[in-house]
Amino acid sequence: MKLSPAKKKKKIKRAKYKVWKVLSAYIRIKYADKDGYVTCYTCGKKMYWKKMQAGHAIPGRANDILYDEEIIRPQCRRCNIMQQGNLHIFAVKIMEEKNKQGIDGLKWFKSKIYNRHSVNYSLKELHELIEKYKNLLVKEVKKRNINIEEVKTFLNMKIKV
Ligand SMILES: [Zn+2]
Repeated sequence: MKLSPAKKKKKIKRAKYKVWKVLSAYIRIKYADKDGYVTCYTCGKKMYWKKMQAGHAIPGRANDILYDEEIIRPQCRRCNIMQQGNLHIFAVKIMEEKNKQGIDGLKWFKSKIYNRHSVNYSLKELHELIEKYKNLLVKEVKKRNINIEEVKTFLNMKIKV
């Protein structure tokens, strides 16, 4: 069955939202302690993963920035929204992380900013991303004292465990 362009657009929009929801939960739990508490990357405030958000080191929610794990870290609402990402702190910290990995942080960050390209994800690709991040999420949940049912409710999605 062929979908009308309007229906397809709606499906894509919904799938994009779902990718972000799973990816955001994955990032928060990946950086959480064994009980699910996570520290804001830019101000150090500690909160339960569900109350935290996930923010980007580079502004703009378009295209490839949105799902680039390398530049996404847990952030509190205050830093992410009210302080518009606290990007000056975010950038310095994420460059330091890369330096520690033996990579020139400044070069890496510059390439992240300047090598952006436009991506038009197909519905199939978006569904693959949802599955990819669901699997990564489950792995991180299992390492901690976090109830998978709580995660399912939060996402409002089915997850195979
Ligand atoms: Zn914060």
